[in-house]
Amino acid sequence: MKEDTACGGGENFDLHSIMESGRRFSFKEKMAYFRQITDQLDEHHQLMYMRMIGSAADREVLVYDEETGRMRPMLMFGSNNYLGLANHPYIKEQVKKAAQQFGTGIGGPPLLNGYTSLHRRLEERLAELKKTESAMIFASGYAANLGLVSGLADKDAILIYDAYSHASFTDGIKLSGAKSFRFPHNSMPALEEKLRIARLTNHGDIFVGVEGIYSMDGDAAPLDETAAICEKYGAILLVDDAHGTGVAGKTGRGSEEAFGVEGKVDVIMGTFSKTFAVTGGFVAASADIINYLRFYARSYMFSATVSPLIIAAVDAALDVMQREPERLEQLRQNIVYAHACLERSGFTVSGNSAIIPIPVPQNMNIRKAAYDLHRMGIFLNSIEYPAVPLSGQRFRVSLMATHTRGDIDRLAEALAEVWIPAGEHEHAV
Ligand code: PMP
Repeated sequence: MKEDTACGGGENFDLHSIMESGRRFSFKEKMAYFRQITDQLDEHHQLMYMRMIGSAADREVLVYDEETGRMRPMLMFGSNNYLGLANHPYIKEQVKKAAQQFGTGIGGPPLLNGYTSLHRRLEERLAELKKTESAMIFASGYAANLGLVSGLADKDAILIYDAYSHASFTDGIKLSGAKSFRFPHNSMPALEEKLRIARLTNHGDIFVGVEGIYSMDGDAAPLDETAAICEKYGAILLVDDAHGTGVAGKTGRGSEEAFGVEGKVDVIMGTFSKTFAVTGGFVAASADIINYLRFYARSYMFSATVSPLIIAAVDAALDVMQREPERLEQLRQNIVYAHACLERSGFTVSGNSAIIPIPVPQNMNIRKAAYDLHRMGIFLNSIEYPAVPLSGQRFRVSLMATHTRGDIDRLAEALAEVWIPAGEHEHAV
């Protein structure tokens, strides 16, 4: 630990203390204090962020090794490239063609000069995928949620949302200035109670926000029940299907397909950063809602359009999803296999999606375990406070169609090896 810093040496720095201490810092102190935390973690090889990757996002990736100064192969279990489309030859070919026709970018927002025939075609295909009248494309999934929530909900509106909703949704609420209420994760009675009270006491629009598949837990919102409750109370249902689009439902159209509620969800948000393996986001809804959002979603109106190269990649990914349904089948087999394998190794796993959370006891040093896994050639994301509560720290396994059974066996073996039995835990640095 470094001496003579703005906050003095010798303290046990951790992220939780800076967030929760209530201590007041000057701007300079705050920067210096946080720098000490990250430096200290780095010194102990416990800052497993920003690992540098030198290859395509496949089941195996090349990752920079600080010790040797070289790239070394690792098994990737942290990518949401669920169908393995990030390195698909047809998609790469279509991107090259788009570069020849459209160049690399446009330099303007969609409402002005940033709207190509590629954008139009993809919007139409996304609307078709989600069985809605219309769709629009945002710079990211984050921007899509921010724009749709703050664009649709005025200050007289009420937003009722699941406690596990993504930060982009809750940030949208803050921007909207609307009143909001959280209900406990997936509790339909609690949702109904909140709606009942909201209806009695409020005359503005009421919105309900849930996710098709929750990003940190891999479980699904019961969309059939949610849609029925929303209909009963005249609430507008917003579904974030970032993790369901392309993988949930019989043909992969998404969580609405899985729950038989296609056409019953008012607004569906999705992202290109998971199954489509690029970046960008979209909203699919009625033509009136999309028309309104084009002018009222500030993250759409005041932001440059997504590059035609990315649009071409998503468009080609939709072709591949239709032509190669075996990818979805393979992903599903991998999910079943991984559940069985991890359970056999003694882990309790939940959900039924490509995201498998592995809860890590609060007093087990998750960062040390992540580093040990890293050294064993396993790239796995650890999810820590403040992304989840301190008691909710976990590893989050992301499966891909391209993983082999051998890869999954290796993951389970490595996890069992780094796991510290209850009673032998040390406290995190
Ligand atoms: N919603 C959910 C549920 C997500 O998991 C994410 C990404 N982690 C987003 C929205 C934001 O999407 P993007 O990363 O494409 O901005």
